Amino acid sequence: MMKIYHTPVLINEVIDLLDIKKENIIMDCTVGEGGHSEKILSLVNKFGHLYGIDRDKEALDTAKKRLSLTGTNFTLIHGNFADILTITKEHNITRINKIIVDLGISSLQIEIEERGFSFKREGPLDMRMNRGERTTALEIINSLPEYEIADIIYKYGEERFSRKIAKKIVNYRKSKMIKTTTELAEIIKKAYPHKWQKIHPATRTFQALRIEVNKELENLEKFLENFPQILAKNGRIAIISYHSLEDRLIKTYFKQNEKLHILNKKVIKPTPEEISRNPRSRSAKLRGAEKL
Ligand code: SAH
Repeated sequence: MMKIYHTPVLINEVIDLLDIKKENIIMDCTVGEGGHSEKILSLVNKFGHLYGIDRDKEALDTAKKRLSLTGTNFTLIHGNFADILTITKEHNITRINKIIVDLGISSLQIEIEERGFSFKREGPLDMRMNRGERTTALEIINSLPEYEIADIIYKYGEERFSRKIAKKIVNYRKSKMIKTTTELAEIIKKAYPHKWQKIHPATRTFQALRIEVNKELENLEKFLENFPQILAKNGRIAIISYHSLEDRLIKTYFKQNEKLHILNKKVIKPTPEEISRNPRSRSAKLRGAEKL
């Protein structure tokens, strides 16, 4: 049976914005299941090269299989894009013409129950993108004080009922450890007023936990501070984000760096056609910049 891989979001828009040339050296900082990379690899010749980074080892295995069907001039690297400077040094990468970052999680991560990303699938409360790291959602939910849980849910989930949810969680765990995704989703649902339940009440809390477990905003900030140093003159970067906290950071960093020229003043969003074909693209926002 053919496996259906992660469908890349805004793929044509990314390719246009990056203006990929045959001999470009390109770095995909979130190679995931290789959706964007597959297309990019098909556009470069033997003088070009694709480097693909991901902090998720399992994603790299899938990407390797997928990309091997398209070409050979690629290198996959297990690492965190926040460490882009050390990664380029360690791999002796001296020129980077194009960078793509596609934030969020991959289909593989959300679809495997065992990874614990989805409130719709029963699994352990894990949510680590890199399973070699220590902190899991289980630890946060069962050991942080109530006010810290409330703050995480408020800050990273922009959840108006954060305090109510945190209270329910802490009450529940007094008698029983919270072990699974669906168990947590039920607790959240009980803390949620009925009339607000248009989207699943656990949506924002799960987003918040994922951001906290993986230190997503800290990693993005570190990356945004460092990437201009490794991008060649006239090199370009494209970043796709999926919530306003990330988009705000990207917009601000692009603006305040004098060495960057912003390529699209107005953020690029998927067409209704793409959203209906691939609902995961729903909240995607694309921004691009060129190094002067
Ligand atoms: N563009 C890919 C999908 C990427 S999904 C495709 O079309 O197939 C986002 C990926 O980014 C996930 O695999 C996740 O593990 C990875 N990721 C998130 N934060 C990261 C970080 N700080 N460093 C490296 N990879 C990261």
